[in-house]
Amino acid sequence: MVNCFVPNCNHYSETKVCNFFRFPANKLLKLKWTQNIRRSDRCPSVNSQVCSCHFIDGLKENNPTIFSWNKEKKFLFVSPEKKNKRKPKPTSKTVVANEEELPD
Ligand SMILES: [Zn+2]
Ligand SMILES: [Zn+2]
Repeated sequence: MVNCFVPNCNHYSETKVCNFFRFPANKLLKLKWTQNIRRSDRCPSVNSQVCSCHFIDGLKENNPTIFSWNKEKKFLFVSPEKKNKRKPKPTSKTVVANEEELPD
């Protein structure tokens, strides 16, 4: 069982709700991860892993950037775009739903 290396994250590999990634072998990349994770009290060991919740699209190549301490920031940054997208979305969704209901 591996606990996510990210502080405030209590995800375990055993729960299988997300994927777990080992720190990259590349030193610079590893340093970047460590800096992003802001864990000054501990250095990642060979057994340390980070869960996919901290990666955009859950992809390791995106590097861990999603953390509890920047979630709000991210939300604020994303929200203007979301607001614009929100308006057309419900209409297109209802159209799709109606189409799905019609065939029978
Ligand atoms: Zn995690
Ligand atoms: Zn997770």
